Amino acid sequence: MPRVAKGYIEQLPSGSFRVSVYAGTDPLTRRAIRLKATAKTEQQAHIELGRLLKEASEGRTPESNATMAKLLDEYAAIAEWDVSTRQTNEGFVRRTIKPALGHLEARKVRGPILDQLYARLKRCGDLSCTGKPFTEHRNIPVLVLNPRDRRPAWQQVTEALTEAIQSGSLAPGDELPSITELSALQDIGTGIIRRAFEALTADGLIVARRGQRPIVAGTAAAVPPGIRKRTGPSHDCRRAGCRPHVCHPMKASTIRGIHSILSGAFAAAQRWEWTDRNPTTSAKPPTTIRRPIPATSPDDVAKVIAEARARSAALGLYLWLVAVTGVRRGELCGLQIRDVDLDRGLVHIAFNYVVRGGQRVRKDTKTHQDRWLAIDPDTCALIAAYLEEIRAELAAVGAELWDDAYLFSNDPAHTRPWNPDWATHKVAEAAAAAAVKLAIKGGRHYTASQLLAGGFDLRNTAARLGHSGGGATTLRHYADPVPEVDRRAAAYLAKLTARSVAPSG
Ligand SMILES: [Zn+2]
Ligand SMILES: [Zn+2]
Repeated sequence: MPRVAKGYIEQLPSGSFRVSVYAGTDPLTRRAIRLKATAKTEQQAHIELGRLLKEASEGRTPESNATMAKLLDEYAAIAEWDVSTRQTNEGFVRRTIKPALGHLEARKVRGPILDQLYARLKRCGDLSCTGKPFTEHRNIPVLVLNPRDRRPAWQQVTEALTEAIQSGSLAPGDELPSITELSALQDIGTGIIRRAFEALTADGLIVARRGQRPIVAGTAAAVPPGIRKRTGPSHDCRRAGCRPHVCHPMKASTIRGIHSILSGAFAAAQRWEWTDRNPTTSAKPPTTIRRPIPATSPDDVAKVIAEARARSAALGLYLWLVAVTGVRRGELCGLQIRDVDLDRGLVHIAFNYVVRGGQRVRKDTKTHQDRWLAIDPDTCALIAAYLEEIRAELAAVGAELWDDAYLFSNDPAHTRPWNPDWATHKVAEAAAAAAVKLAIKGGRHYTASQLLAGGFDLRNTAARLGHSGGGATTLRHYADPVPEVDRRAAAYLAKLTARSVAPSG
């Protein structure tokens, strides 16, 4: 039997019209269900009123205001998942789906919203990440041992950490540094830290994990996107061991798992008439299984640079430039003094230097596109210091460094460039000494993957690496040939690479 539906139209101060229809009571919340619409003209308002009255009298309430959070809760309660699937899926719902979509009304979620979410996860699984560099803070308190305190040191440490956990500044699920890490960061003996960790574990405040860092006990709260951990006024990034965030793309298979949960939830929402459509039918989760680029980590690159620098300033600078510019090895060997503009922070990549069958050839760059690259102030300072040394040496014998001299050379006047093969060999030696797998190609890979992981535009990354069709030709014609994003890319790469190498060293 059709229900009695009542509706009315009211004009708002703005001149538009609001249409409202009473459509019964929600059996779950026992609240009145009102169907609402707005219209620009009175005529449209009457059409809307008719439509809503019809919907209400049919007992359909597709405008149910249920949020995604509510939908997921109700769906999880009835979903036929086996025990292990349930555990996995509830983890996805809590950590990813609810923080990202929970606040949205289920009926308002459309395919593009899901596509955006999938694209974002593909770039980085951390929802607080916007693609811009940021520091991952760890709320580890500053541990101060008071020599006047009668309690043993381990108890003082235990107390400080207990307080941080109980006050909530260290939250459930937060990872603590390892014993050796925390010992080094806070300059407290490993024995003391170990004892404190044992006491905290016994108290059930932290959970020790075999081969992994301990975590604060309890279920991690879902963090909404864009919300980052706050730090207190006494926070000390150095002693807490805070680090720059490194993006970890979510695996395609994991994103497909999330898609299938959503697909089930929306199918239920349709059956329950909470929504008219299932947006997962138009959304496309990643289907191809793409192998992640085996990029060398910033830490490893930094280790090799430190090792190379210990061997010679030139080799250190060479490898540094490979990492922060992504320039081909031969292009770097072909670099002349005049190609470096330290005042404007630019490097001109014009030639690729190759040795074929004993013949030294200075060729146009691989794609026949010369390009300008931004270099950050740290890199400029490194080059300046390096050139100053060369100039001083030459001045001592009454000579000078010519504009067409090469940046990297083994002869005093820098007239003959390094053989790229020789440079590669030297880099390989340094990498082996640092126990890191790295080839120069790996260095280029490093630049590309770190830039992409850091959320830099692909077109710009292509231009930086001198790939054709990447807009490099256009860049050439600009007065300042380097766009702002390339400057940011340069600074970002230098910062990332400098994490454990001091540029002045
Ligand atoms: Zn910090
Ligand atoms: Zn990220």
